[in-house]
Amino acid sequence: MSRILSETDIQRAKDLVANAGQIVITSHKSPDGDAVGSSLGLYHILSNLNKNVKVVLPDGAPDFLSWMNGYENIILFDQATELAKSTLESADLVFVLDYNVFLRTGNDMMQEMQKLTCPIILIDHHQQPGDFPVVTYSDTKACSTCEMVYRFADQCGWKTQIDLKAAECIYCGIMTDSGSFRFPSVSPDTHYIVAHLMELGLDHANVHRQVYDTNLLDRMRLTGYALSEKLESDEDGVWAIISLTKEELDRFRYRPGDTEGLVNQALSLKHVKVAAFLREGNNEIKVSLRSKGNFDVNKYARASWNGGGHMNAAGGATMETMEEALKRMRTELSAKHDEILSA
Ligand code: 5GP
Ligand code: MN
Repeated sequence: MSRILSETDIQRAKDLVANAGQIVITSHKSPDGDAVGSSLGLYHILSNLNKNVKVVLPDGAPDFLSWMNGYENIILFDQATELAKSTLESADLVFVLDYNVFLRTGNDMMQEMQKLTCPIILIDHHQQPGDFPVVTYSDTKACSTCEMVYRFADQCGWKTQIDLKAAECIYCGIMTDSGSFRFPSVSPDTHYIVAHLMELGLDHANVHRQVYDTNLLDRMRLTGYALSEKLESDEDGVWAIISLTKEELDRFRYRPGDTEGLVNQALSLKHVKVAAFLREGNNEIKVSLRSKGNFDVNKYARASWNGGGHMNAAGGATMETMEEALKRMRTELSAKHDEILSA
């Protein structure tokens, strides 16, 4: 397997870990499989090195991710704010996993992150990482942060600390962020890594079941409604948009995570090259964008939706009404029709 981090950075990271009394691992708001998987994967590895390590996340993950070993020990900033603050304050070393700028932890946790004076190690695959002190391990080609956590541990000489618990978490993040091993970012190394995780005894079928075969009826019906009633497309079907208002979500007793993957369903249409999903929240509309081929939705999300992400998967948000946001999305994507088609 290729060695990606420089020897200097690896030595620096190892020294920081060795000298840290309290290590705190953080990830982004509305954590996905890669955020929870990388945080808990690294948590188990560092715990096996007998380090004192805590995970602080801005908010909780949906049920289909909260089965991961160690989830119950995570400190959620929105629920245990004082504990989360004091934990961050007492950190000697902080890991920033699966996000590139503090803003991704949300307005409240961001304030605390900005106060940090201890060293920070970033491990992330998003574009344009912030200027993080000490060690920045950014690889926008990596299929997941979980893959990067594995490589990081491997290069640090901690491969033997990857136990079955860590393997499950790391596998979950690789699986979810790679679209079950089908996105172009999957490399031979991804499969070498997974092969090793399986050698450790990983029950990969069980991880898949926990994530994808635990739907509740409300969620299935919401998906059915969204696809049959709320999916729209332009004339030749080069883009597709799904939108759900708060009232519609309430009707199906929406729970966080229920609309996960919906945007990919829209993208799976034969001629569609860009898909968008707009979901009305309490005080903003959350936008998810996906593309096939070379149309850069990260660039579009940055320019139009105050967001970012990767070339083929990005997101953002707006304070507009659903009607305004939808109208603008249709107009903008239609204006980009030829660009999308030729990308
Ligand atoms: P999702 O559509 O699944 O929420 O997010 C897809 C990708 O876009 C993820 O990699 C995520 O990091 C990124 N992303 C989603 N929402 C935002 C946002 O509001 N700001 C930025 N910078 N990136 C986002
Ligand atoms: Mn990720």
